[in-house]
Amino acid sequence: MAKVEFLKCVRCGQTYSIDDVEYYCPRCGPEGTLDVMYDYSRIKQLFTKESLKTKDEYSLWRYIDLLPIERKPELLNMQVGWTPLYKAKRLEQALGLDFVYIKDDGRNPTASFKDRASAIGVAKAIELDKKIMCAASTGNAASSLSGFAACAGIPSYIFVPATAPTAKITQLLIYGANVILVDGTYDEAFEVCLQASEEFGWYNRSCAVNPYLVEGKKTVAFELMEQLNWEVPDWVVMSVGDGCCISGAWKGFTEMHELGLIDKLPKMLGVQAAMSNPVNRAFRENKNSFDYVKPETLADSISVGIPRNGLKALRALRESSGDVVDVLDIEILEAMKQMARLTGVFGEPAGVTGLAGLRKMVKENRIQQNEKVVLVVTGNGLKDIKSAMSAVNTPITIQPSLEDLKKYLI
Ligand SMILES: *Cc1c(COP(=O)(O)O)cnc(C)c1O
Ligand SMILES: [Zn+2]
Repeated sequence: MAKVEFLKCVRCGQTYSIDDVEYYCPRCGPEGTLDVMYDYSRIKQLFTKESLKTKDEYSLWRYIDLLPIERKPELLNMQVGWTPLYKAKRLEQALGLDFVYIKDDGRNPTASFKDRASAIGVAKAIELDKKIMCAASTGNAASSLSGFAACAGIPSYIFVPATAPTAKITQLLIYGANVILVDGTYDEAFEVCLQASEEFGWYNRSCAVNPYLVEGKKTVAFELMEQLNWEVPDWVVMSVGDGCCISGAWKGFTEMHELGLIDKLPKMLGVQAAMSNPVNRAFRENKNSFDYVKPETLADSISVGIPRNGLKALRALRESSGDVVDVLDIEILEAMKQMARLTGVFGEPAGVTGLAGLRKMVKENRIQQNEKVVLVVTGNGLKDIKSAMSAVNTPITIQPSLEDLKKYLI
């Protein structure tokens, strides 16, 4: 018996059987992203603290009972998820907070949080016998899909802005994806990819189009709760572009709540770049629509003018009594240094944007000293060394002699 009961539109609430709809709500169009709903009363018997304790699978597949995949595909054996959680003592001291944890999702196979979704997307493609996959991406979703598709032997077509960081484009090329650089923004790349996917029947990896992908992202919440021994944090902090990551994590928390595994829920804190902040503006104005601005931020992964999963993100922020802040690029670069120097975790700009937002929240007294905070670092710093280099000083050069070294030291 299939685990997924039905799909439900985030916009109009209409439900659909999994056999009737592949991507988004036919009534609402692409804004009507769908939620994957399970038979929770049945899963409640399987998905318990005790049953989890007996599992020796340390990856996202540990949570297969609550994933829309019947079984872990044999071919797809990359280690995804179950990333480390660190207590960040020195960062706590710097921020004046008692509890700060770092979840380092840059430790995934292609070095970003996106791997959680790609694993499910490719597994679903295998299940549905899809021959070709495609993705539009600011960079990481693409590099991630190309890695997982390569592992499974499925060809992929990738649409990225020509301005994506070189490391991310390199990943695509080395994994052998069909790379199409779009002379335009991510928002434009997204549209071309959606059209191509409909025209040629390619299986779309976008988390905002394909309802199953966010299911992979929710596993971060399951891991967090197991790693924190089921003690729910007060805040979970993530950067927001399209809004798939934060809404995915929120779904994980609400499902654990529904299953009786946790008795309270965290507040979600979304952090956006100031020049790419449509979700924050909609949240502040209490609206359910988004005004486009041409995004401008060095945090390429959250450089999004039209948030494709904005409604789900707003729902996560509102339902959780959470909050959103936005930060300047210079604050993101500061956070990158602070994170690296106080925790040893090197995140890409969007990966450390959460820390920049946390700093702001603490400064403005919107987060209190004794509140427990988890920061999710969504991508590895080596993916964008150009931005990292702009945050630091150039090193000195010496002649290879002790004499010369001494000149520098005094
Ligand atoms: C994609 C991405 C985000 C933002 O996720 P959304 O789902 O677009 O909000 C944040 N950080 C990194 C590193 C990403 O790759
Ligand atoms: Zn709808």
